[in-house]
Amino acid sequence: MERDQYTMQPESLMMSYGYKPALSEGAIKCPIFQTSTFVFKTAEEGKSFFEVAYGLREKGENEELGLIYSRLNNPDLEILENRLTLWDRAEDCAVFESGMSAITTVLLGFLSPGDVLLYSKPVYGGTSHFIEEILTRFGINIIGFGANDTEADILQRIESKGYGDKLKMVYVETPANPTNALIDLVMCKRLADSFSTEEKQVLVAVDNTYMGPLWQHPLKHGADLVLYSATKYIGGHSDVIAGACLGSKALIGEVKAMRTFLGNMAGPWTGWLLMRSLETLKARMDLQQQNAQKVADYLLNHPKVAKVHYLGHLKSGEQKRIFDQQCEGTGAMVSFDIVGGEKEAFKFLNSLKLMKLAVSLGSTESLAEHPASMTHAGVPVADRAECGIADSLVRLSIGVENTDDLIWDIEQALDKA
Ligand SMILES: *Cc1c(COP(=O)(O)O)cnc(C)c1O
Repeated sequence: MERDQYTMQPESLMMSYGYKPALSEGAIKCPIFQTSTFVFKTAEEGKSFFEVAYGLREKGENEELGLIYSRLNNPDLEILENRLTLWDRAEDCAVFESGMSAITTVLLGFLSPGDVLLYSKPVYGGTSHFIEEILTRFGINIIGFGANDTEADILQRIESKGYGDKLKMVYVETPANPTNALIDLVMCKRLADSFSTEEKQVLVAVDNTYMGPLWQHPLKHGADLVLYSATKYIGGHSDVIAGACLGSKALIGEVKAMRTFLGNMAGPWTGWLLMRSLETLKARMDLQQQNAQKVADYLLNHPKVAKVHYLGHLKSGEQKRIFDQQCEGTGAMVSFDIVGGEKEAFKFLNSLKLMKLAVSLGSTESLAEHPASMTHAGVPVADRAECGIADSLVRLSIGVENTDDLIWDIEQALDKA
């Protein structure tokens, strides 16, 4: 049987998909189109490109949007966007200069004053600041919920504030950082549907950075938009900041329109770096996941470890049910509570020899950090306690190093703690 982009696996297509060598002197790799603007062949062609770009007419069946200006489109971005759609089986994608610009563009693009945003807690620190301190300044109402809240709790919270007819978006991050707590995506879709009307579709947006794009595919479970910090697994080498948003052609069209006016698209060099990264994405993530499993199992039996937070250790109950429903892998993020508190956690972090003491995640090198005083220092103490972000918690992002070397490093650092 013939195979094509629909039947081949994404990892087979990451070296070539969407790129035509004949358009670039036969170069096997997509060159960096370091250019701000593009020359039209004729004035008529320029007119025709602008008609499509400004929505003055529909794009023809096989017509591609002509290249105009690098804030609107650029070959490195377009080819990268096409490749990214394959992992999530999305219709379209928009890439950004950071994960935060993807997230803020979606929130600003779809929310208006008076609308209500329902969002999961905890979310990434930058996202939580933007939602709580900035969106609220523009008259957007917000309601938070956590992994421990039931569907009935959430419904009751929306109804008791009289927010039902104003709900516009459900925004979630799952698994939650740094505890790996899971939010049920099917429940989010059900909630969104129950408040949607003919005039107003309630959108479900999911920050899939922690699992994606390999180990969870939110669009399959009813999400409308998937967001990534491409700085993490997609970039994967701790050398580039970028973001992405995926979804239907219609929704991504709106996202791209907003991006054109905010001017926060990624540049051609970022696009090129991410295409290079995508070629090894599957190989890197597979290895990171295998290493994480061995590290998590090792920690489980260590006398200086009080508790391990790792998706591969879920045995039964509601969290395991959600895992089976929506996760396709156990990921490469492992958190653990060390016996003691901040003092012991710091001693561990300061004693590591191979793993680096740094925030961020998903990269080839293993990283370790202390959420309570670093990534989650801005979370109010009461919220921290509720989400399980204790002073004893250490977060690890596992890389591609030799497994035995990693475990040796953790062992010698725990010995000193
Ligand atoms: C890092 C991160 C972000 C922000 O992405 P940047 O690329 O740093 O702007 C958003 N969400 C999650 C879950 C992240 O880990």
